Amino acid sequence: MPMISQFATRLTFLLFTGWLLTACASNPYARTNKSYKKQVKAYARSLRTIPGNNPAEDSLMQGDYWVGTTNFNLRRANFVVIHHTAQNSTAQTLKTFTVPQTQVSAHYVIGRDGKVYHMLNDYLRAWHGGVSKWGNNTDLNSSSIGIELDNNGLAPFPEAQINSLLQVLALLKKNHNIPSANFIGHSDIAPDRKTDPNALFPWKQLADNGYGLWYDDMVPDTVGVLDITGLALDTVMKYNIPENFNPEEALRIIGYDTKDLEAAIRAFKLHFVQKDITVILTDEDKRILYSLYKKYL
Ligand SMILES: [Zn+2]
Repeated sequence: MPMISQFATRLTFLLFTGWLLTACASNPYARTNKSYKKQVKAYARSLRTIPGNNPAEDSLMQGDYWVGTTNFNLRRANFVVIHHTAQNSTAQTLKTFTVPQTQVSAHYVIGRDGKVYHMLNDYLRAWHGGVSKWGNNTDLNSSSIGIELDNNGLAPFPEAQINSLLQVLALLKKNHNIPSANFIGHSDIAPDRKTDPNALFPWKQLADNGYGLWYDDMVPDTVGVLDITGLALDTVMKYNIPENFNPEEALRIIGYDTKDLEAAIRAFKLHFVQKDITVILTDEDKRILYSLYKKYL
């Protein structure tokens, strides 16, 4: 090898080693990343076990020999659940999600500056939903991807953060084929416990981009009120909602757990009304609910 080429090879090697050392030294999460890798290895080992060994399977009358199918792939998430962290910084949340005692995590954490931390492979189960229900789905952690937005619980969501969120959602929708209706918030699936993301979260902007459903604007009919002579006394605005419209049933059809009806109404208003989140359904709220309900039917 000519001298100059040998020198170049050695220099490249030194530069690479230097970069590697700096990269390792500068990652404050090197230790917990090791723990991540260890856990992933254990799951990979379990997947490689042939034949598969499930709890209590020994008590079954087994077939004469092991037959593995040739046709399968990994399970995919079918929902995306959006949260605010209710913490003071991204760093605080990264810490929370890397301390075993907290028992909480999410797949993605997005900072106010738009930086995205992908903390868990999409195919693995994060612990972000807790006790939750959406429709008949009672294990959202198994079927969803959790996204935490760094937010103290009261602040608006900066543009950089929402732009990054939209990019992450685009990837998730494409990679996992998630239906538009299945982009929801933590408060939607746990209305009696959670109020995130807060009322300043731009759900309409998300829906305009295909993530989550939104109601249609409905023009009220002008209804004339006549006196006995047939002369118009007044006109009132009336939305065309059927007499027998049942808001509780509509909330349930959309997916809300209505066991605690007031909590379900509050969660619905936090997502779709936002300007007030009282537990009273105004005519306008009912109109929004009716429009959405028809989309979910
Ligand atoms: Zn949450």
